[in-house]
Amino acid sequence: MIVVASSNGRVGIQAAMDVLKAGGTAVSAVEAGIRLVEANPEDHSVGYNSYPNILGELELDASIMNGRSLESGAVGAMRGYLYAITVARQVMEKLPHVFLAGEGAERFAAEMGHERASDLVREEIMAFREERLKRDMPAEVFDNLAQRSDLYEWVKLATDPQRTYGTVNFLAKDSHGDICAGVSTSGWAWKYPGRLGDSPIIGAGNYADNRYGAAACTGMGEMAIRACTAHSVVFYLKMGMSVEEAGKRAMADLNDLGGRFISRMNLVVLDKDGNSGGFTSHQDGTYIYQTADMDTYVEPNRTYVNIPARWDQEK
Ligand code: ASP
Repeated sequence: MIVVASSNGRVGIQAAMDVLKAGGTAVSAVEAGIRLVEANPEDHSVGYNSYPNILGELELDASIMNGRSLESGAVGAMRGYLYAITVARQVMEKLPHVFLAGEGAERFAAEMGHERASDLVREEIMAFREERLKRDMPAEVFDNLAQRSDLYEWVKLATDPQRTYGTVNFLAKDSHGDICAGVSTSGWAWKYPGRLGDSPIIGAGNYADNRYGAAACTGMGEMAIRACTAHSVVFYLKMGMSVEEAGKRAMADLNDLGGRFISRMNLVVLDKDGNSGGFTSHQDGTYIYQTADMDTYVEPNRTYVNIPARWDQEK
């Protein structure tokens, strides 16, 4: 039994391991770990008190994948409900669908009995948003952003790829050998309304298959969507690569992307035998894991793979 997570999963990893030790499933462990991160007001990239979109609205994305059956569930751009990972799990378990977005996700959350919350972002975050956006736009633009028809121009200026990272990844393997991967995020700070990142997209930010392993991403979701990164990692494991080789190879694929917007990427990986690894394109990243015989988690450095960043510039 093992739980692997991005380092901001510290607040949830023990709860996830407790679920596994009590005989619970990898799916329940991943959900339990992620819910604690979603409820953590100190984490501004997941759930409660996170950075909103450019209009100041919090839009949450999450997904979960059961590696035993390859069933999965996801929600995208969901407003007003905190526990996106639980709603994603309910999509997987209660619907013939995989992915609900926007109003449909909110309607479904209500049907599932989730409590609607209008106060998911504290004043200090809204004040930070105002201060941050006003560095790039005149006050009169900021004051009527919702009415403007040139939001697309302001998003390019205000979205700062170096300051908007976060997102939580959890991977778990339970006592039956079943593997699950889950991801939850508020996405990029100040993103365009309705923008979906990789986190709710199965194969991009999240993938699990008992036969080979699991992977999940944080970083610039657009890159992971374009390269199908989480699925690529699992595919490379399927081809017989080690965790180290598979992670580096998927990162190299990202480095080959063209286009104008390239920024950071991080991966966590777990293979079917319980070997884990973390990868990052910036120098100082860590990830965490805990096995059943450990009292607490350890936090190793991620393997660094250079992906030169560029913003609004061709290669
Ligand atoms: N991958 C997330 C997204 O693109 C953001 C992040 O990991 O920080 O929405």
